[in-house]
Amino acid sequence: MSSIEQPLITLALSKGRIFEDTVPLLEAAGIQVPENPESSRKLILATSNPYLRLLVVRASDVPTYVQYGAADIGIAGKDILYEHSKEHPGGLYQPIDLDIAKCRLSVAVRKGFDYEGAVKKGARLRVATKYVNVAREHFARKGVYVDIIKLYGSMELAPLVGLADAIVDVVSTGGTLRANDLVEVEDVWPVSSRLIVNQASLKTKGQYLQPLIDAFAKASQGNSHE
Ligand code: AMP
Repeated sequence: MSSIEQPLITLALSKGRIFEDTVPLLEAAGIQVPENPESSRKLILATSNPYLRLLVVRASDVPTYVQYGAADIGIAGKDILYEHSKEHPGGLYQPIDLDIAKCRLSVAVRKGFDYEGAVKKGARLRVATKYVNVAREHFARKGVYVDIIKLYGSMELAPLVGLADAIVDVVSTGGTLRANDLVEVEDVWPVSSRLIVNQASLKTKGQYLQPLIDAFAKASQGNSHE
């Protein structure tokens, strides 16, 4: 009688900050990642665990890969998960805040733009962002009228060329804003990345997925005290 073979587990994540902060979590679980997607350009990476592979996808595509089951688990920022859940509610289990790739969502404007004055006067602001739901809800809470302009990248450019008065974007060190003569005028949300799990995978591969989820939970515990 042949024994049931252990299934392959696929983890989707993006390169850059999230990949760099995930490698130490995997290492703490005894899993090495021999290749770096920046240099290898590979989109499927093997790990030292023959039953675990990584898919390198765009940050905003991670929830889609996991929701449709092309990946069993994934790692994505709260910013991305919030926007995804507005367009595609349900389907993703989010068991752990990994406390990695920490940054914040902020409102920024061109240096010298009187943001407070514009808001007080009840002006209708033009806001460029990739995070349309976050931005709409933020300004609705403040009672500020806005026209949201959806962009897919390089938001910092919009106030410089008159496309928008303000942007809502992810800020980490603030270096990108400073380099483009922009200033932060409001914090919208603190952001960190979460582990997300396909609910069907959790049922069919739970026996193999749960130890990995537990290992991530244990390895990430130190991050919240940084
Ligand atoms: P910084 O210059 O350090 O403030 O970084 C700003 C840029 O880096 C933003 O425009 C973001 O696109 C990107 N960024 C920084 N931190 C993160 C993160 N944790 N997750 C995703 N993108 C980030």
